[in-house]
Amino acid sequence: MLDDDETQSEAEIPTFSVDDGVDEVTAAQAAAEAEFGALDEQSDAPKTDRRLPVVAIVGRPNVGKSTFVNRVLGRREAVVEDVPGVTRDRVKYEAEWSGTPFWIIDTGGWDRTGKGLAAHVSRQAELATTEADLVVFVVDATVGVTDADLDAVKMLRRSKVPTLLVANKVDSTAQELEAANLWSLGLGEPYVVSALHGRGSGDFLDILVDALPEEGKAPAADTGLPRVALLGRPNVGK
Ligand code: GDP
Ligand code: MG
Repeated sequence: MLDDDETQSEAEIPTFSVDDGVDEVTAAQAAAEAEFGALDEQSDAPKTDRRLPVVAIVGRPNVGKSTFVNRVLGRREAVVEDVPGVTRDRVKYEAEWSGTPFWIIDTGGWDRTGKGLAAHVSRQAELATTEADLVVFVVDATVGVTDADLDAVKMLRRSKVPTLLVANKVDSTAQELEAANLWSLGLGEPYVVSALHGRGSGDFLDILVDALPEEGKAPAADTGLPRVALLGRPNVGK
């Protein structure tokens, strides 16, 4: 009896070899990479020395610029709030779509009310044209065109920087009709997108990367933009 038991328990002891341990580490790393992406890609450093083209996202506060940037980045990084104007500064991220890398700038929306707002949005748009190879002008399709939008569009059209028009917050087919009015801005086709739900964003990004030049006009390092979001309580100083 005793002999039998001993034989049995010996047979149950699992054996490990050095090779097994290595396999486990490899498997754990593979699992981590499957979930979080390759470790090399976690780096904040630009992946190439090439002058990547720069895309600036411009528009009034609260139209969904930061939500759109997050959609492009595939993670929640740009600051999004229900309160207009929480993006404190222009924030630049390295993005990639369909194998095409580019910089994306989330232009700020300080909450300027009244007369100041239009001037501010226009100023952001103007700054964007000096450093961007492509501007994405975002309009809130549920609000339609405002005076602040019109001022910025005038400036963008004068600047001759290629500009794509996004009608955001088109969460359903029913809202697409409203967006058709945006042809009147003279920026070409309004691309209907729901940055929040991802509706239409893939199709739009295909068009965006097609419109990008191979290289940016300014060395990315020379733009002097912060690469880190400025942190702080939303709406401080209002
Ligand atoms: P920003 O000021 O232009 O950067 O706008 P945010 O990205 O901070 O978005 C402002 C608000 O609009 C937030 O409450 C977002 O959740 C909301 N929002 C953004 N995109 C969409 C969208 O596609 N559909 C809807 N329904 N809401 C959106
Ligand atoms: Mg924002």
